[in-house]
Amino acid sequence: MTLHAPYDPGNIFAQILRGTLPCIPVYEDDVALAFMDVFPQADGHVLVIPKQVEARTILDMPETHLGPYMQQVQTVARAVEKGLTPDGLVLTQFNGAPAGQTVFHLHVHIIPRWSDVPLGRHGDGKMATPDQLEPFASRIRAALA
Ligand code: 5GP
Repeated sequence: MTLHAPYDPGNIFAQILRGTLPCIPVYEDDVALAFMDVFPQADGHVLVIPKQVEARTILDMPETHLGPYMQQVQTVARAVEKGLTPDGLVLTQFNGAPAGQTVFHLHVHIIPRWSDVPLGRHGDGKMATPDQLEPFASRIRAALA
């Protein structure tokens, strides 16, 4: 995959947006969908993806969509902080396979950090069950309410 390959509508996040693959959502509006990462690098690891665009990376994102999308990334980051009270938050966003991107629909990772808990490796996590993810999702949803 190069940085300039065409958008593949069969990618996992496009399937989640169409509702043909499940996810554990925490937030959705016309601009963005946020849901729990199933291979979390930390408790409460959330992904925020833009809707209504076919953007593989930040380079493809129409300028008019970028601002509203990043505002919703901030909305969700604030809710993660309020709901889970971590000591820090890591936001990551990879562009292209050599940079670490594995799913080719633009997304930002929001990863809570606690001082005494090591960060899991990107792309190397253990698959979490819905029962494990839901308690964190519900605290983030409550913070958004
Ligand atoms: P990337 O490596 O492209 O920056 O991030 C893709 C992220 O999507 C990874 O953190 C990975 O754990 C997550 N992921 C991969 N497949 C699925 C899935 O089917 N559902 C969810 N919720 N997350 C996924």
